Amino acid sequence: MLPVKKILIIEDNLLQYKVTDRMLANAQIGRFQSDWAQTYEEGLRLLLSGDYAACLLDYQLGERNGLDLLRAAREERCETPVIFLTADSSEQVDEAAMEAGAADYLVKGEITPRMVERSIRYSLKLAEAMRELRLLATHDALTGLLNRRAFDALLNEEVQRARRFNHPLSMIIVDLDHFKSVNDTYGHAAGDAVLVAAARRIESGLRGIDRVARIGGEEFAVLLMETPAQEAIIVARRLVAEMQAAPIQATASVSLPITLSAGVASLPVSSAPNFSLQVAADQALYAAKHAGRDRAVLAS
Ligand code: GH3
Ligand code: MG
Ligand code: MG
Ligand code: MG
Repeated sequence: MLPVKKILIIEDNLLQYKVTDRMLANAQIGRFQSDWAQTYEEGLRLLLSGDYAACLLDYQLGERNGLDLLRAAREERCETPVIFLTADSSEQVDEAAMEAGAADYLVKGEITPRMVERSIRYSLKLAEAMRELRLLATHDALTGLLNRRAFDALLNEEVQRARRFNHPLSMIIVDLDHFKSVNDTYGHAAGDAVLVAAARRIESGLRGIDRVARIGGEEFAVLLMETPAQEAIIVARRLVAEMQAAPIQATASVSLPITLSAGVASLPVSSAPNFSLQVAADQALYAAKHAGRDRAVLAS
């Protein structure tokens, strides 16, 4: 049996609501359960609750406009697919609905239960594909961690915030030691398995609010909010120790001792406006490598 999908109907006219609700109840493939919002305010509030798989939105809501409601919802980052129901079949309305981010546009009086159901099913599928795309744009496919682009954006925001409020902020760059030899000896698939396991181990050594990304092949970055240098170096040393603690399973029959090097840099260390947390952490990482690897170094 298909799971029940919750659908929000935003419609100011009781009769119209009943017609639409009846259509949903008669759906042949999907199973829908609807809630009714009668006003703009109630509709927006329910839509933003995130409780609904899709929304059927009336174009005219008393004095207010369904388009404005949709725009307001999108501004609040609401991603629920919204299907317009309108009495007006003009191209302009269709165009405006699409621009505002509507998934579909159906004309009252022309619609059949099958059309409504089909429109909802297609909208849901599209929303799912969009979710996957968004995830891929910000996350690394191998480890599921944030990717470099997402991390750069996050770093930028957090550095600005830390500077403005004069709060501490630390960054750790982690690089696996002699990782090339894993690939060379056991193959790329084994290398991938080590990367995934290393990512999990790094993550497990952090707090929930710390953010971790894969910023290069075998290179990871950690951003520690509200964390000064003395605390960040302790975290980095813990990551080193946790990697030493047990070998990592590379293939069904091979476990390898993997170590990592870490460079740590923090704000506020330098008040120089051109001081880069990332460059400083990179230099500290280089120093850790140079000093023999398998250790953490704090930027001087
Ligand atoms: P060091 O201790 O100086 O960091 O040495 P290293 O061997 O770790 O560093 P190097 O930069 O020479 O090699 C990194 C290797 O990481 C080279 C590349 O083949 C491998 N690599 C990068 N991305 C991936 C990936 O996605 N999967 C696998 N399996 N290997 C990768
Ligand atoms: Mg109306
Ligand atoms: Mg390396
Ligand atoms: Mg590297």
